[in-house]
Amino acid sequence: MIKFPPPLKLTNKISSTINDIQSITHPLAKKYTKKILAMTFPKQDLNLGLEPSVLTVVPDGKNVKYIMDYNNIGFQDKDVDLYLCSVYVTGMKDFIKFSQKHPKSKIIVGGYEPTMNPKDFVEYAEKIITGPCDSFWETMEQSGQIVRGITLNKRIPRYDLYDIKLNQQIIPDKKPNDVVTSINTSSGCPNNCDFCCSPLMSNHIASKPLELVKKEIDYLKQYKPKFIFIRDENFPLQKDWKQKLDAISKLDAKTYLFASANLMTEDTIKYMKDKNVYMTCLGLEDITKEYGKNRKLDEVCEKHEKHGLFKYLSFIVDPLNVNTNEKSAEFYEKLINRFNELKPEMVCGNFLMPFKGTKLWDKYKHLVTKDDFSLYNSKSAFLEKDLERRLVDEYEMFKYQWDYYNSKIYKGIRNFNTNDTLHLRFLELKEMFAKKIADAIKQNPQSETLKKLTSERSNKI
Ligand code: SF4
Repeated sequence: MIKFPPPLKLTNKISSTINDIQSITHPLAKKYTKKILAMTFPKQDLNLGLEPSVLTVVPDGKNVKYIMDYNNIGFQDKDVDLYLCSVYVTGMKDFIKFSQKHPKSKIIVGGYEPTMNPKDFVEYAEKIITGPCDSFWETMEQSGQIVRGITLNKRIPRYDLYDIKLNQQIIPDKKPNDVVTSINTSSGCPNNCDFCCSPLMSNHIASKPLELVKKEIDYLKQYKPKFIFIRDENFPLQKDWKQKLDAISKLDAKTYLFASANLMTEDTIKYMKDKNVYMTCLGLEDITKEYGKNRKLDEVCEKHEKHGLFKYLSFIVDPLNVNTNEKSAEFYEKLINRFNELKPEMVCGNFLMPFKGTKLWDKYKHLVTKDDFSLYNSKSAFLEKDLERRLVDEYEMFKYQWDYYNSKIYKGIRNFNTNDTLHLRFLELKEMFAKKIADAIKQNPQSETLKKLTSERSNKI
């Protein structure tokens, strides 16, 4: 397990600064004087954590709290005016359980799932907020049960409600005690990649004003972050990305961001390097497909190397492409060849998760059951219905990454064994798979497939 630093005690200085920045001005706020509790469903994954986006939505005021564990909220209904629940697909079941224990009249929902399927929440919540939102009371005063979130770009997220030292982003060379924070300077994406759910939240780029970004950076200075993650879907897509990066570079923190390769000219790469950008996530995606944004990926990776910028290639595995030993061997050979050509400092595999509303949905919907929604975490190969094969798929995705990180080629790029969050995460996964495979063998000792996995493990890992 990655060990976490002890919680940071919020100083009065931090709390009062945020109250100075954001005073309570909306008349509706005066009606709700009891507690307002914000939470996310599912619970935040502390191993991979970053401050939750619900902090952007929650209003000002000392009666507002962020609750890490919705099974242990520490208050009674009579002392609470509102429960603000941000719900993602995998949290739906837990949210329904929660809503059955608390008065519907106090429950407000928002986030990905209520945006995509607002009607599914009608029986569980008083108000359903769809799309992005940073102005809670203005959103709440709209009539109707289902309302569109309002963004006025006047406020910064309530970082004061959260212990920023819980953030544990996986970044090469980031040690568990290094402080990492994040910022959103825009939301939404106009591109329409067939697998991606980001445009479903917002299909155009909504850019935050530069002045607001500067205000947020000024606020974040007190945490002295060593790393900052720009959460925008595609940062250089904004017209004023250079000015925003100038402002962010004042933090003097190593910066990591998402950018599509088609926007990464050599000048852009040089500019980013000069402004403390440390790593860009370029998105290799599914190597069996061609993406317009990736046509110049080879050249872009080469320029990253030339100018000393780390490249992070996330990739997608469709379980239907690896569902036999032969298909899997062929797929991973191609993938590893691409790694060896592009030499990324970081890779990360995600299993395909078809989202309702994306172009891919119709092709895969017959394979998605209601129970699968709790597995929408990109690490489960739930499109594979044979559970033994599913375990093989999940293990193999880990194993090929592990092999790359421990390969000669990678040794020429950087040292993997540094006890940074990347290395520690992979040690954690190694242990997790050893246990999962041992448990599966106990259940089915005759399985040749599982025995083969154990012998591969002892040979390779
Ligand atoms: S993958 Fe990236 S570029 Fe494509 S739609 Fe999603 S956010 Fe936009």
